[in-house]
Amino acid sequence: MKKDTLSIIVPCYNEEDVLPISSEQLLNTLHELIELETINENSKLLFVDDGSSDKTWEIISNLYNSYPKNVVGIKLSRNYGHQKALQAGMETVADTADMIVTIDADLQDDLQAIKKMLQKFNEGNDIVYGVRENRETDTFFKRNTALGFYKMMGKLGVKLVPNHADFRLLSNRAMKAVLLFKEEDPFLRGIVPLVGYPSTKVFYDRKKREAGESKYPLKKMIRFATNGLTSFSLIPIKMIRNMGFLTLLIGILYIFYTFYQKYIGDSVHGWSSIIMSIWILGGMQLVGMSILGEYLGRVYSEVKDRPAFIIEQKLERD
Ligand code: UDP
Ligand code: MG
Repeated sequence: MKKDTLSIIVPCYNEEDVLPISSEQLLNTLHELIELETINENSKLLFVDDGSSDKTWEIISNLYNSYPKNVVGIKLSRNYGHQKALQAGMETVADTADMIVTIDADLQDDLQAIKKMLQKFNEGNDIVYGVRENRETDTFFKRNTALGFYKMMGKLGVKLVPNHADFRLLSNRAMKAVLLFKEEDPFLRGIVPLVGYPSTKVFYDRKKREAGESKYPLKKMIRFATNGLTSFSLIPIKMIRNMGFLTLLIGILYIFYTFYQKYIGDSVHGWSSIIMSIWILGGMQLVGMSILGEYLGRVYSEVKDRPAFIIEQKLERD
């Protein structure tokens, strides 16, 4: 029976601290799977260096030199971000891999879960989501912001798999479908469920980062969340519209109140309400405009149709 070829895609951004440990474990897992004849012997580990400024690329090059058969390295010309690094990896193996697994370089995700994923794949699933069973290793802050994020996205009608990050298996056709989404700033967690095809989940415990620091500081997290929201939901725009109608209604009622005050009540008062209205309306308009601006900005970057990434170097035996 012909065995399927697996590519494990590992995005790496300044991971010199953890890469020596994680690459060894990843190679062990890959070799084990090959020996067990679960996957084809041409299966590969694909390291994507996302414009690191430390020794990451050097480590990847050494790995390639030691294991040219099972290691592929690509180096992006600068830091494009986690999601684009994954996209670059998928595009690189789109014609060779029967299935891919994407996993972080920091070993927070359980390598043993890959076996379960392959089993689910063999049962006919195109997409297998890795879902964290606990988030105890995350900080209190990260845990709660993440929870809030999933809740908000759910309310806004965006389909996401809760507690699933970018640890997942995709079949070749699912991967190709994901690559058809040519968005400028892809949010894969939102895109993958839109692809369809049979899918399932595998549960695992998320561990602490083996070494190095999180590459998602608060600023990046906020950008990631905003991006996820504005790429998939138009509800914020509808919210402005509703807010506008409500404001209008209050304004109309206010006219009646003003007339009442003028002819029946005491017309000298009212300065405070006027100044308050100015401030409230001004504030609302600014908020509304900023949300609209966000969408406009997206349209702008989308129509420019820039290449999603540029590969600078590639290490691969033909
Ligand atoms: N990463 C990347 N480019 C970036 C930021 C992160 O390729 O600009 C990689 C990083 O090396 C890691 C993965 O994306 O393999 C997830 O990042 P990290 O572990 O820092 O995120 P966290 O687990 O803290 O959410
Ligand atoms: Mg991590």
